[in-house]
This record gives sequence, C-alpha cells and structure tokens, in this order.
Amino acid sequence: MRLLIVEDEPGIVGFLKEGLEEEFFAVDIASDGKTGLYLAMTNDYDLMIIDWMLPALSGIELCRQLRKSGNVSPILFLTARDTIEDVVFGLEAGANDYIKKPFEFEELLARIRVQLRDRSSSDDTLNAGSLTLNASTHQVFCNKNDITLTPKEFSLLEYLLRNKGKVCTRSRIIEHVWDIHFDSDTSVIDVYITFLRKKLEAAGCPCLIQTIRGIGYIIREPDIT
Ligand code: CA
Repeated sequence: MRLLIVEDEPGIVGFLKEGLEEEFFAVDIASDGKTGLYLAMTNDYDLMIIDWMLPALSGIELCRQLRKSGNVSPILFLTARDTIEDVVFGLEAGANDYIKKPFEFEELLARIRVQLRDRSSSDDTLNAGSLTLNASTHQVFCNKNDITLTPKEFSLLEYLLRNKGKVCTRSRIIEHVWDIHFDSDTSVIDVYITFLRKKLEAAGCPCLIQTIRGIGYIIREPDIT
C-alpha cells in the first residue's frame, strides 16, 4: 500500500515516514500543498495524510481540490486545531478522518487501517483458499504453516490479495507497492513474484499467483474441488 504524506514539519515527516515504512507501507512526501496536489494528481495513492497548515496551499484547500477533481482516496488530516468547527470544516472539505497533534503513532496507524480495511471484512485479514494474510500483524499463514516474508514480498502479496479476482498490471503493482524513488524497471516484480511463489509453494499453497502473460498477475479464489 502506498501513502502520501503532505506535511511541512521535518520532525513529523521523519517520524511518520520511518514508522510507516516499518509497517511495510511505501511512502511519498510533499512538504507543501502545491507539491502535494501535484503528486496526488499524478499518482494513485491508497491513502493520504494531509496537514492542515501548509505552505503554498492549505491542507483544507488541497482536500477540496482533490475531491473536486474526482479523487476518492481516503484522506486523514492532521491538525493542531481542535475546535469542533475546525474538525467539521476539515471533514466537509473531503477528509475521511482527522487526528489531533500531538498524536501517538499507534493511534494514527489504527486510523489508517480502518480506512484501508476491505469493505467486505471487519478486520485486517485477507484470504484466498487456504492462504491468510493479516495486514496489521504482518502474519501470513497457509494451512496453518507460518510463512516468513520480506517487507516487499508481504506488500506485493497484500496488494494482489486486496485485488483478488482482478488482473494487477505491472504498472499498477509498481504504483501501489513501490515509492516514487523506484526506477521504472518492472522486471523486479517478476523476481519478487518468483520468491513469493517459492515460499507459498513450500508452505502448501502452490499455483495461487497466476501470470497473465504480457500484462501482470492475478490471485483467484481457488476452485473448491
Ligand atoms: Ca504544518
């Protein structure tokens, strides 16, 4: 899952980026509202964290412009202001949720997970056949066998599972699993898919990830036979 942080305070940016990358998110940063708007219009983020007070374009104005342009990615806004009027103002501008500064990282993470949660399930568990992935504990099981994945392997599998039944093109995978500093050689995905398949097969979940030749990959719910 790829996130955009629009925040001008370097201390908060550093703290968020480090914490979120430890949680296996790909993270892009903008330190002013205009750069945030540009990045949000040119990339497809799974969620955006936007500070209220920003240089160049305020967080509220940024939210408004994104919603007006049809962008529907979840937005959490950060605010040092905490009157009810301010909160209502932010939500009316198009934010999905807000968090007051100073905040605990764990609380922010919990709010992010609520926004990213699969509409069809009430927790952070994703499934395909006998494979289970928990997005908050980072555990992956196949037939009760624990599978140890690297952060990138985990993110890749999470993205495929969140899009179960849909073909994930290489460019979509890059866009949602890697951050902006990734150079565009998409063959790295094939390498990670190979690693993942080996680990899944060793744990008893073979053939789950299918190749769509020339396009990308798909995980389908296995036929029950
Ligand atoms: Ca600020």
